[in-house]
Amino acid sequence: MSLVEKVRSLVGDEDDETYRYECENCGNEFESQAPNPNDVDCPMCESGRIHTAL
Ligand SMILES: [Zn+2]
Repeated sequence: MSLVEKVRSLVGDEDDETYRYECENCGNEFESQAPNPNDVDCPMCESGRIHTAL
């Protein structure tokens, strides 16, 4: 599955809600099923400095 197809499937499936986050350390944007950014670490650099991406 391509990234675009995966995003589309996630957007269209409210039973599998994900949240978009951005790492303040390295700028990586990623998705997580955790609703609270305090519970999320960056998958690239493992930083805990995460905020919600718009
Ligand atoms: Zn990072």
